[in-house]
Amino acid sequence: MFIFDAHLDLGMNALEWNRDLTQPIEMIRGLERGMSDKLDRGLNTVCLPEMRRGRVGLCIATMLARYTRPGEELPGWPKNLAPGWRSPEIAWAVTQAQQITDLDGLERHLQLWHANDPNAAPLADAPIGYILSLEGADSIRQVADLEYAYGQGLRAIGPAHFGSGRYAQGTHASGGLTAEGRELIRAMERLGIILDATHLCDDSFWEALDIYHGPVWASHNNCRQLIPGVRQFSDEQLLELIKRGAVIGAVMDCWMLSPDWVRGKSTVDGAGVTLSHVVDHIDHICQLAGNTNHCGIGSDLDGGFGREQSPGDLDTIADLAKFEGLLAARGYSADDIEKILWRNWVEFLRCAWK
Ligand SMILES: [Zn+2]
Repeated sequence: MFIFDAHLDLGMNALEWNRDLTQPIEMIRGLERGMSDKLDRGLNTVCLPEMRRGRVGLCIATMLARYTRPGEELPGWPKNLAPGWRSPEIAWAVTQAQQITDLDGLERHLQLWHANDPNAAPLADAPIGYILSLEGADSIRQVADLEYAYGQGLRAIGPAHFGSGRYAQGTHASGGLTAEGRELIRAMERLGIILDATHLCDDSFWEALDIYHGPVWASHNNCRQLIPGVRQFSDEQLLELIKRGAVIGAVMDCWMLSPDWVRGKSTVDGAGVTLSHVVDHIDHICQLAGNTNHCGIGSDLDGGFGREQSPGDLDTIADLAKFEGLLAARGYSADDIEKILWRNWVEFLRCAWK
């Protein structure tokens, strides 16, 4: 089946990790053997050939270029390994190296991949489509940059990442939007840029949804009811997102799937995390909504972690195809599965862009 993955840090992997994503997974892993600058060196799961093999033909590619203040530590990251650039100007420069798409392009792309035919074979060299999103808005030097960024193809923004942001408070922080954040949200609505609620702390989440009236999604977010913690959304938040027509992408980083995960210490085998745990979150949202219209995949694979922190039955991104069988085993119909694996995101975009 065709698959839409709503959260892949492709730009970060190419630019910061120096990974040539056009190469086979074994070659990328091989070139990283012995490197220790990142925890997941040699353990990557994403590259374009593996995406083609799994028929992951369309994704939301984030620009992740956060600003980290000197001396700032990020909860969950070992000292000196916290991601981030030293100034908003450097972060802005990094985002300038990444790319675009639109609605006509979306329809053409779905035809190219025969997305509607669940039995179509994976394509050997078809282009992987992507919609450009910005994770954490720190690199927007001032709100006036937004129009330029939109002109370049930016279509979604998650205003915050981890900790305190220049526009909103993110995971592990607290408090509402900054004055610039409120200005940013209003400018996003004016331009038709999708609000990605992922990573907003509870206070910022409710304030952002209060002042923003455009399309909202949560590209990579699991359920607090199943995994306690501020990185996951409460049922109250999920119900609000459902009411707003959002799609919520199930994320595959083990610390959002296992309640006691400690980065760098816990192991996938020890914690026993599998793709079935991801299905639990999808199922929880379907039960809350009373339908299958609001779930999708937002894997976040290679988003700062690799196989060491991914479900044990996933070797590469091609294994997202396993969701077809896993969802069927839970009683989901072929139509439901198509919606969860790609159509919900596409319908959302058709609605947002019409
Ligand atoms: Zn994220």
